[in-house]
Amino acid sequence: MVLPVAYHLARRGVRATVLEKGDMASGSSGACDGLVLLQSKRPGIHLRLAMESRKLFNRLSEELPVSIEYRCSGGMVVIETAEEFRAMERYAEEQKETGLEVALLDIAGARRMEPELSESLAGAAYSPPGRAGESHCPDPWFGSGRQGPGGRAYGPTPK
Ligand SMILES: Cc1cc2nc3c(=O)[nH]c(=O)nc-3n(C[C@H](O)[C@H](O)[C@H](O)COP(=O)(O)OP(=O)(O)OC[C@H]3O[C@@H](n4cnc5c(N)ncnc54)[C@H](O)[C@@H]3O)c2cc1C
Repeated sequence: MVLPVAYHLARRGVRATVLEKGDMASGSSGACDGLVLLQSKRPGIHLRLAMESRKLFNRLSEELPVSIEYRCSGGMVVIETAEEFRAMERYAEEQKETGLEVALLDIAGARRMEPELSESLAGAAYSPPGRAGESHCPDPWFGSGRQGPGGRAYGPTPK
């Protein structure tokens, strides 16, 4: 998280210094699934922050000198039981109030989109492409030059 913060500070002309004990993005940021998933976010500020973050990824794809392999693929959250489906109905309504485009599908509808889904599931919550995305290697470039625009990054001294 620190490298993107330093990057955006540097873009605003603020000199930032990142001290990293390991290699850049050697923590969970470099190992995570790289999903920019909106549906898993609680309605309200949590989801609004994620929606703003997703907009940044669009811009980053144009700004950075390297590809972050960002693609908008949409997202589907499967629902196992009828009880969960009722809970997800309320949750999805609140997410819509926050601005997320999301639809609840019964299992027939979900399997039309994802035929490999088990018939034993109750259904799925689906958010179309452009509303959820996925990207890989978001962090490495921020520190690769050890001297980004207006910022410095210090890791362990190479042996
Ligand atoms: C398996 C997995 C999958 C995930 N999938 C996703 C996903 O798809 N989408 C998503 O949004 N989030 C995902 N997450 C969560 C996400 O990875 C983390 O929330 C995020 O990366 C945390 O960033 P961070 O900068 O706080 O921690 P980290 O990325 O772990 O960075 C901490 C850094 O601090 C350094 N450090 C530690 N101690 C010191 C010290 N004393 N001095 C200097 N440096 C130090 C470490 O070396 C490390 O590089 C996933 C997490 C995991 C574990």
